[in-house]
Order: sequence, then structure tokens, then C-alpha cells
Amino acid sequence: MTTRRTFLAGTAALGGITMIPYALRADGHSADAFETAGGVITIYPISHASFVMDTPAGVIYNDPVGEASAYADLPPADLIMITHKHGDHYKPETLEALKGADAQMITNPEVLGMLPDSLKSNTSAIGNGESASFGDVGIQALPAHNLTEERLNFHPPGRDNGYVLDMFGFRTYISGDTEDIPEMRALKDIDLAFVCMNLPFTMDVNAAASAVNEFAPKVVYPYHYRGRDNGTQDPMEFANQLADGINAKMGPWYG
Ligand code: ZN
Ligand code: ZN
Repeated sequence: MTTRRTFLAGTAALGGITMIPYALRADGHSADAFETAGGVITIYPISHASFVMDTPAGVIYNDPVGEASAYADLPPADLIMITHKHGDHYKPETLEALKGADAQMITNPEVLGMLPDSLKSNTSAIGNGESASFGDVGIQALPAHNLTEERLNFHPPGRDNGYVLDMFGFRTYISGDTEDIPEMRALKDIDLAFVCMNLPFTMDVNAAASAVNEFAPKVVYPYHYRGRDNGTQDPMEFANQLADGINAKMGPWYG
């Protein structure tokens, strides 16, 4: 395997999008910003599968779990996206603290059915292949599931979501928990991707890199890479397998 420099440092133009260098948040966590046709989109990795996108179309919280204090210095959510019911993606207590009266929430159908009454207002579900919108944000639900026989019990087909968010032509793919399904490999025109990799729950770095090389996003964050026992995957190994022109971005997902 060759080691290639795929990490961004400083401002870089990436086929029409400009990446602004790291900004440090007050709590020491980093953020990354992307210049788009509609304005700047700032990404705040929080932990594992949780991150916040501050965009001109609103503030989008993705699978926010953990202590509400982790989000305390961020703008409040306008839209909350939930991929599926597992505790590293959906935690009602966190949502109670973060979902204000006006925030919208979009989940998969299973999570909608599990929600406490307090979280049901302004919440809707879309299933695999369905679409929704939130102001200037186009939302498409993709499948997210295991392919390997002995892992199918974790994420069976048809239940959980990945998402593509389209804002001003800037397209973000959020994998949710999945293996390298054909729908991921067939993605087109993705600017920014968040791709899971851990075992036994999702896939390893080799499968993740193979799929990412096929759909070729401009920038990809490896996320959700800590698994059970030795199932933790190395995001650097993932990055080193990426084709030229695909830039890996490391987030402080685990502190
Ligand atoms: Zn899961
Ligand atoms: Zn997960």
C-alpha cells in the first residue's frame, strides 16, 4: 500500500468548493467550513456518529446523542436528522434537551414509532428511497444496512436510513450504519461524505475505501469507526486507500 497525503491543510480549492482551515471552538473542538454557492457550511464533529452542520439553510443536528453540554456552545437545531434507533444514533434524553419547540425532526419510520409524545411534534419519517425537504434543504433517504450474513441482525435491509442532503447544489452524504451497499457506490456528485467503518456493526476500512473510491466524493470524513473489542478501524488506513482527488478529513470524534 502506498501512503499518500490526502489530508487537507490550509485553504484548498476542491473542484468548486473551498475548504476553510480549522477553526477552534471554545471547548477545544475543531470545525471545518466549506464555501458553497449559498454561503458557508460549517461542520462540527461531536462524537462517533454525531455532528452538527451550521448552514445558510439552517442548523442541522445529525444523530445527536450524548450529553447536551457537548452542544452547548453551538447554535440551536433547526432540523434534527436521525438515521436509526441504536443508542449511538438515537437517544431520547439528548433530543429532549436539544429539540426546541420549533425544531423539525426527520427520522426513519421505526424511530418515529418509538418516540415519546414529547418529541412527536414537528417530527416526520421517511423510509428508504423517500424524499423530504426543509426550506432550502432537499433530503433523500438512502438504504443503510448490512450485507454480510452474520451481521444482518445489526442493520437488516429496509429499516434504517442514510441521507443525502442537498443545499444550493452542495450535496452531503451521511451513511448511517451500513456496509458498502450498491446505493452508496452509485451515488453521484457528492461534495461531502460521512462514512461509517467499524466491526462487527458496519464494515471495515477496506470496504469503506472501495465504496468511497467508486462514488468519489470531494471530501470524506471517516466517522463511526470505534467498534467492539478489536473492531475499531483505523481512519488513517482508510485515508491511505483513497484515490487521488478524494480528500479525507479527520474529525475529533473520540476526543
Ligand atoms: Zn446501528
Ligand atoms: Zn452506530
